[in-house]
Amino acid sequence: LLRRAAAAVSAKTRWVDDFPSAGVRFADLTPVFADGPTFAAVVAALAAAAPDAELVAGVDARGFLLGGGLARNLGVGVLAVRKAGKLPPPVQTVEYALEYGTAAIEIPADSETLRGRRVLVVDDVLATGGTLAATVQLLEQAGAEVVAVAVVTEIEALGGRARLEKHPLTAIVQI
Ligand code: AMP
Repeated sequence: LLRRAAAAVSAKTRWVDDFPSAGVRFADLTPVFADGPTFAAVVAALAAAAPDAELVAGVDARGFLLGGGLARNLGVGVLAVRKAGKLPPPVQTVEYALEYGTAAIEIPADSETLRGRRVLVVDDVLATGGTLAATVQLLEQAGAEVVAVAVVTEIEALGGRARLEKHPLTAIVQI
């Protein structure tokens, strides 16, 4: 599953230099998601990372697309992990450091959705790992058990995997 998905992802990823700022090589997965067989192969490969998950958490915003697909594949529900300021109160927040300044992500502060549940976390790209590490922290604070983290593309040179070391990480493509 992983190998078939990897070939399709590699063929369809659009790499854009110096976006959104100088020196960044941006992985645009729009053509990956827009192609039916490729999207299906991606979803099947990532769902296999946690067949026993009870909930899928997708990270704002491209993780939402994957999260819905994964949840349907696994027959479970989906949770949107939002950027700060999008959800009505009460919310639970984790702040994390960016290269310049900080960012924050939020989920609803409702203990029933997450407490004791096995959660699969998904996003499109793993770069520095700051976003996914903060997501894992947020879900665990809410009582969830993060059983796996799944991404389409891992940019290995940025070292994100080391920040998620306690959790199994699946990436379809490592660059
Ligand atoms: P990070 O917290 O550094 O791992 O960044 C992860 C988030 O930023 C993910 O939600 C990605 O969608 C986005 N991102 C960071 N770097 C890139 C990149 N080079 N190409 C595409 N998306 C990126």
